[in-house]
Amino acid sequence: MALLVQKYGGTSVGSPERIHAVAEKTARARRQGHDLVVVVSAMSGETDRLLELARTVNPDPPARELDVLLATGEQQTIALLAMALEKIGCPARSYTGQQVHILTDSAYGKARIVKIDETRIREDLDQGRVVVVAGFQGVDEAGNITTLGRGGSDTTGVALAAALKADECQIFTDVDGVYTTDPRVVPQARRLDRITFEEMLEMASLGSKVLQIRSVEFAGKYKVPLRVRSSFEEGPGTLITYEENEMEAPLISGIAFNRDEAKLTIRGVPDRPGIAAQILGDVGKANVNVDMIVQNVGADGTTDFTFTVHRADYKKALEILKAVATQLKAKEVTGDDKIVKISVVGVGMRSHAGIASQMFKVLADEGINIQMISTSEIKISVVVEEKYLELGVRALHTAFGLDKAAPQAT
Ligand code: ASP
Ligand code: MG
Repeated sequence: MALLVQKYGGTSVGSPERIHAVAEKTARARRQGHDLVVVVSAMSGETDRLLELARTVNPDPPARELDVLLATGEQQTIALLAMALEKIGCPARSYTGQQVHILTDSAYGKARIVKIDETRIREDLDQGRVVVVAGFQGVDEAGNITTLGRGGSDTTGVALAAALKADECQIFTDVDGVYTTDPRVVPQARRLDRITFEEMLEMASLGSKVLQIRSVEFAGKYKVPLRVRSSFEEGPGTLITYEENEMEAPLISGIAFNRDEAKLTIRGVPDRPGIAAQILGDVGKANVNVDMIVQNVGADGTTDFTFTVHRADYKKALEILKAVATQLKAKEVTGDDKIVKISVVGVGMRSHAGIASQMFKVLADEGINIQMISTSEIKISVVVEEKYLELGVRALHTAFGLDKAAPQAT
């Protein structure tokens, strides 16, 4: 007998039939003797529809009112799921975030969970009920409804699991687990049985969109065992865990990539203290996030400076950089928004040398030029020309032994 928090995403509750299917799944786990708290998202497309609706009424809706509206998406699904459970004889009760006191800060649209009061949930569990909680929403100190940001139901699930000290938080979604890389790019990609939080965070921040990043951070911080599973087929999914024996860890767990990158270079800036701070300071003030940064070794008292930004911020960053260049009397500003980032990720890297050179050799053998490199303890990233993305990811996937075995002929 375990206490499980199950979270079902928008596609999993996207129609009455699917809501019934979720109810069946939940009721089955209940019959096996588990205590269940179920967190649901709005039906797929509903949050977008509500956003549209708001904008037709007011193109710039007040953040507070937008959250009041968006929270209704999840309120529909909790009620429907509780009804479906009752229909098949499984006692259930639904609650909004406010009703179970999911206390957040007041940052509308991107609120952070501060505290959860589990009393009410425990009472229902003790009565043998399945507790259905609306994802994505909470309430601030003053009683205002807040939402947690797109994809925020994952975080609700993990936060509830942490508060209740659940045995596992199961995220049911439309994929059957976390893969070594995007199967649409590499058909030989494999589902991972397990992956560490740290690796998952790198994979998620590098563009693998299975879970909302904040939910993974949360799970890592509170050591909530997290499992990604398919809503539509049976299977063990992928366990995201902090207990990983590093000696046994695979060298590389996955290849992540990010298409939305752009790079900018400012050449011939004075090589003296404060220059990097000035360049990046102006960029940061404009709310542009900088990812990789490379400063060349100076010569003749000047140096070059290159950094990457999200592609959506490219034009803005270029304008800022041109202004900085004039101030600093820099030689020139250049940019390229046809680049991508490819990364190999694995905790096994900590105890093994030579991964970087192996990675660079694989890319060289394919004739792929590396434009920038950055590393962390468990990740090596390179920037390459956009047209090499598929080739590079596939070559690395094979070279690091991640391809699944070819199906046996029968
Ligand atoms: N319904 C919200 C969204 O679409 C939250 C979620 O699905 O996790 O972002
Ligand atoms: Mg989601």
